[in-house]
Amino acid sequence: MKLPFKYVLLGVTVLLLSACAAPSKRAALSAQGQINSAALSRPSEPQSQDPQAAALPKDVTVRVLLAENQRAATIKHSGKIYIYTLDLEKKYKISRAGTLSVKALGKGKVQVGTLKSSKPIVIEPARGTLLTWDTNSYAGKFYIIPTANRFHLVEHTPLETYLYGVLPYEMSYTWPLEALKAQAVAARTYTLKTLENVKNQHFDLFSDVRSQMYKGGGKQYDSVKKAVDATRGQVLTYQDKLFFTYYHANCGGGTDDVRSWNPGLTSIKPLSGASCKTDSHSKSYKWQMNVPRAKVENYAKRVGLAGTLKSIKIARKTDTGRASNLTIHTSKGSKTVPCGNFRLATGIRSCKITKLSVRKKDVHFEGKGYGHGIGMCQDGANGMAQDGKNYKKILKNYYPGSELRQI
Ligand SMILES: [Zn+2]
Repeated sequence: MKLPFKYVLLGVTVLLLSACAAPSKRAALSAQGQINSAALSRPSEPQSQDPQAAALPKDVTVRVLLAENQRAATIKHSGKIYIYTLDLEKKYKISRAGTLSVKALGKGKVQVGTLKSSKPIVIEPARGTLLTWDTNSYAGKFYIIPTANRFHLVEHTPLETYLYGVLPYEMSYTWPLEALKAQAVAARTYTLKTLENVKNQHFDLFSDVRSQMYKGGGKQYDSVKKAVDATRGQVLTYQDKLFFTYYHANCGGGTDDVRSWNPGLTSIKPLSGASCKTDSHSKSYKWQMNVPRAKVENYAKRVGLAGTLKSIKIARKTDTGRASNLTIHTSKGSKTVPCGNFRLATGIRSCKITKLSVRKKDVHFEGKGYGHGIGMCQDGANGMAQDGKNYKKILKNYYPGSELRQI
């Protein structure tokens, strides 16, 4: 079944169009694909210089920031490449494999090989050529975007190829195919949801945990390729809209409502929590660790509470036992903080804390799970797949009430 919305293809670029002006409530995609003035303003891509590129299947283009404010970069190419300015005013090609040097010339200018410009320069690999930068290989086009004295390196790549470079770093490629397929749908949905409200002019996604881990779509694991290809174009929706399909390593026996992690977010049924009976095989299921007192005291100081640490109490818990708030007591007073913030600051694995004691030199924690505990539990997805459940069952379990749709 088709979605009641669809992508609008404009030349080689696929623009995501939003039907609603309010950024916080932007509709997933415009109903019936109508062009709307609130359309995401993404610069159109120059015409591909590779004559074979037209044979590739149409796909959404995503723009991934690989490196910020670089002075120099060395880019290897496994075959033919085209190098040109965005306006195609200057262009040339290199017909065989080699190494390309990129450097900032200052005053907003960059040099790529022999081409110098103050405009963005594109390095487009011919079909079958891969670009290698910083040990990772990429199948998309590199954009060298000049800044005052440096440059940003951004890759423009088809969504499905992007997913080849996300999956192996968000879930092990050795895991069962059905778990990888569930991960592919979750990562695809998360990506498209992110694209609805892009703030930056030059890129849509980071290549690290700020978006999703990504190390290039050039290296393709067979299992990952199978999972991505088998679910090509499949996304999850709720009430006809995409939603942020959060996922995490291990929920410790049950996931939680998104508000337990961030009270500012709106809860919807697929992000309201789910049972998980298949994640206890993992070493992430149970943990214990000791956090130096100084680390806790430094965090407390940053949030406005000085003094020597006296105690930490769980102020509020969800039904699954996840602490949503902790109260820190010091010699100067007390403060209640969101456990999610405390977790990031101190490095405890999750907020499903089962034991907590402030000791002479450190704070001893015991707990269950790894990560924020919202959306899909990856270890649980692995367990369900091992029990013979398919990816649709897995997604239904962790995102209850959601629908699997084809874009
Ligand atoms: Zn779980």
